[in-house]
Amino acid sequence: MMITTKGKKMYIGGKWVDKDETIDVRDPQDNSLITTVPSASKEDMLNTIKMGEEGVAIAAKMPVHERISVLNKSANYVEKYADLFANTIASEGSKTIKEARGEVTRCIETLRISAEEARRINGETIPFDQMPGSENRVGYYYQFPIGLIAAITPFNDPLNLVAHKIGPAIASGNAIIVKPATMTPLSALLLAEAFDYAGLPNKVLSVITGKGSEIGDVLVTHPAVRLVSFTGGLDTGEAIAKKAGLKKISMELGSNSPVIVLRDAQIEEAVNSTVSGAFWAVGQNCLGVQRIFIHDDVYEPFTNKFVQRTEQYKTGNKKDERTDMGPLISEREAIRVEEWVNEALEEGAELLTGGYRDGAFYAPTVLTNVSPNAKIAKEEIFGPVVILFKVTTLDEAIEYANHVNYGLQAGIFTQNIQQAFSTIGQLEVGGILVNDSSDYRIDGMPFGGVKGSGIGREGVKFSIQNMVEPKMVQFKL
Ligand code: NAD
Repeated sequence: MMITTKGKKMYIGGKWVDKDETIDVRDPQDNSLITTVPSASKEDMLNTIKMGEEGVAIAAKMPVHERISVLNKSANYVEKYADLFANTIASEGSKTIKEARGEVTRCIETLRISAEEARRINGETIPFDQMPGSENRVGYYYQFPIGLIAAITPFNDPLNLVAHKIGPAIASGNAIIVKPATMTPLSALLLAEAFDYAGLPNKVLSVITGKGSEIGDVLVTHPAVRLVSFTGGLDTGEAIAKKAGLKKISMELGSNSPVIVLRDAQIEEAVNSTVSGAFWAVGQNCLGVQRIFIHDDVYEPFTNKFVQRTEQYKTGNKKDERTDMGPLISEREAIRVEEWVNEALEEGAELLTGGYRDGAFYAPTVLTNVSPNAKIAKEEIFGPVVILFKVTTLDEAIEYANHVNYGLQAGIFTQNIQQAFSTIGQLEVGGILVNDSSDYRIDGMPFGGVKGSGIGREGVKFSIQNMVEPKMVQFKL
């Protein structure tokens, strides 16, 4: 079978649907037009929700072996056409072809884990005789699907973060409507093609394209939607949470992740890992390294090596195998990053390398002498900018690391097990990596944050926990 990128149509209840009103999908590298996708209206969204409501019963009736089969077939499809998927990510988004291939591999893994987890959605028997008078009762609970899920996804991982919503939803017998990021809808539509090929019954999945600000409200406020599973920025997440009403919400939001480097750290390893963590996907990465707290004793060797390694980074054409870093998602975003850096420099920050822009490209940038209270240290920069702080104690590093409204993941480099455990206990984050940067994730681990970084956890098994409800059954004998 020949694969075609049905990028010009959206996938509504199992049908590929066109519209006269369209949105341009452009390559951020040179602003060239890749294709257009339909610009859905509020009415289109209402129609999609109606299909989704019908899909709820269809999905719930799919036996587990069928869910497993569909998920494995869709994974095989992504694997077979991995090059096309990678090229789509590297065209519509910021990622280099190398980074895009990594995302495709992760997407296959996410779908296969979803297939495995489908068979492990269990209940328990309940010891009713714990209550005097209930000796003659037996019963159990099992997990039933929550119903219709609204999934809203960001631009920076346009394929795997969509798989992280669809895979668990299908594994747990739910219907799902995906609203992918306006700038990167093509990878999500290709994934819909994989499920279409895999024989997913109609109406269980829709991927609707359009502007979040125009069609988002209809989706998140609709009473038929039982869970809003959102991945994106804090401001959008907060606005959605306020509007959603009486339904479950799962919020995977941003961060400005800290890494602590203590005096006994293996410097070479710490540098390599944090440079990669800072500049992966042009720093447009929710768990990317933004703030590094380095002990005074090793500050100089760490900083010298860090700058040296950063300056070796090759920025340029995303499709070139040798390129380490591509453009930001838009020139507008690159200008915003430039403005934040310039503001920090005006406030007295020192530029160690980078700090310049060319269209949508922004050089990998290292700053120091930044106040922990500066905007660039407290907010999420979401660009290729990292700040190095000199600290004299672990307590000082922990205090600064926690001194923000985010808490997704953090890293610490040390050989001292006491200090590692002390840090694990004190950092306000959803995950800690010892002797690694914050930028580490596998698709089967719990992933999510505290404070402004979100509510709930993803990572297939953990997403499923949010997508089911226990139903209690009791027999009086
Ligand atoms: P964004 O918040 O601008 O957009 C996310 C999605 O929300 C898009 O699909 C957008 O169209 C939609 N949207 C916008 N307004 C809406 C509305 N009013 N109603 C409903 N939907 C609406 O985020 P972005 O710029 O695409 O992504 C970057 C952000 O995502 C960063 O903050 C990053 O840290 C975060 N992120 C978090 C995780 C995580 O797992 N924690 C992963 C990746 C990205």
